[in-house]
Amino acid sequence: MESLKELLSEELKDLYSAEKQLLKALPKMAKNANSGELRSALEEHLEVTRGQVDRLEQVFESLGKPAKAKTCKAMQGLIEEANEIMEEDAEGALADAGIIAAAQKVEHYEMASYGTVRTWARICGENEAAELLQETLDEEGEADKKLTELAESIVNPQAESQSDGQESGSRGSKKSTKSGSKSSSKKSSRR
Ligand code: FE
Ligand code: ZN
Ligand code: FE
Ligand code: FE
Repeated sequence: MESLKELLSEELKDLYSAEKQLLKALPKMAKNANSGELRSALEEHLEVTRGQVDRLEQVFESLGKPAKAKTCKAMQGLIEEANEIMEEDAEGALADAGIIAAAQKVEHYEMASYGTVRTWARICGENEAAELLQETLDEEGEADKKLTELAESIVNPQAESQSDGQESGSRGSKKSTKSGSKSSSKKSSRR
C-alpha cells in the first residue's frame, strides 16, 4: 500500500463485496418483516442497492481499475447478526424491531465506509468518483432515516404494547399482533 489512491481502491473492493452480500441478504429480511411498511422499505432498499452495485462499477471505471470484490468481513458479521436476530422467537412488531436494529447497523456501516471513500476520492482529485460515492452515501442516509421513522412511529410503540403483560410471565395470552395495518393511530390502545 503506497498511496491513498491504492487504499481507496482496496476499500472500494470491500464495499463492492459488502453491497453484493446485501443483495442476497435483504430479500430474507424483507420476507421476515411483519409490517408491510417495513417490508416495502426493505424491498425498496434492495432496488436502491442494485443501483449502488452498478454505481460502484462506474466508480471503478472512472478510476481506471477493474471492478473487483474483496470479501467484506464486517458485512458478513452484520448479516450473521441479522440472521441471528431473525431466528429469535419473537413475533410481530417485536421481530420487526430486531430487523430494524440489524438493518440500521448495516446502513451505519455503509455510511461510515462511503463517507470515507468519498473524502479520499475528493482529495485524490477523483471528482467523478467522489460525486458518485456521495450519491450512494445520500441514499444510505435516506434508508437509515426511513428506518428510524418506521421504528419511532410504528414498530417500537407496537413492540412495546405487545409486551404488556409479558413480563409477568403470562405466556398463554400471547397475541400475534400483525403490524403494518393502516390504522397506526389505534395501535397504542394501552390499558
Ligand atoms: Fe448500500
Ligand atoms: Zn468491510
Ligand atoms: Fe455486533
Ligand atoms: Fe444500504
